[in-house]
Amino acid sequence: MGIVPVKTPTLIKKILPDYVWEFSTSEKILYLTFDDGPTPEITKWTLDILKQFEAKATFFCIGNNIQKHPGIFHSILNDGHRIGNHSNTHLKGWKTSVENYISDVHEAQKIIISELNKSDTTSQKLNSSLLFRPPYGQIKPSQGKALKTLGYTVVTWNILSFDWDKETHPETCYNNVISKSKPGSIIVFHDSVKASKSLMYALPKVLEYFSEKGFRFETLPI
Ligand SMILES: [Zn+2]
Repeated sequence: MGIVPVKTPTLIKKILPDYVWEFSTSEKILYLTFDDGPTPEITKWTLDILKQFEAKATFFCIGNNIQKHPGIFHSILNDGHRIGNHSNTHLKGWKTSVENYISDVHEAQKIIISELNKSDTTSQKLNSSLLFRPPYGQIKPSQGKALKTLGYTVVTWNILSFDWDKETHPETCYNNVISKSKPGSIIVFHDSVKASKSLMYALPKVLEYFSEKGFRFETLPI
């Protein structure tokens, strides 16, 4: 059974370039993604809990954070997870020129490649294509098009946990994920201090809930 990326609907495509929102599959697979790390306070906890459930995920890392915490970045790689680019300084796309935006993404990619080169061949293979997730989900069509030309796949999501949002109760965060996820969903969590309270509550429960239902958690298949 093939797993097909679901891209931007045709109507919106006229305005936006192709972004990947979810995958079309009948297999019980979910794609967990973690933005904003590596973070000393929370990324290792996240890796431990994923390991307990034999779950693989994709980490959209901030270049600056990789530079500050290269050891944690290598722990992500060594555990067999996938890496994506989440810019170098977590820029807001709508407030940034195309040139500055691309340059910031490129800076983060240089850091990612430099660390991958220090790692083994398995993790390099896992990270052979260029994935980018726009911070705040903000990206101008012109920025998206420029990234596509450079070979990036822009990955958004179809399930937001709202783990970063102080107004969202951890239980609601858990319910957001379990009520809306279906085979092929791309789910967003954050391995950041800001999201840690909700993440630490919801992630183990999400893993348990879907594991019991026969789902597996994989790295993004693109
Ligand atoms: Zn972010």
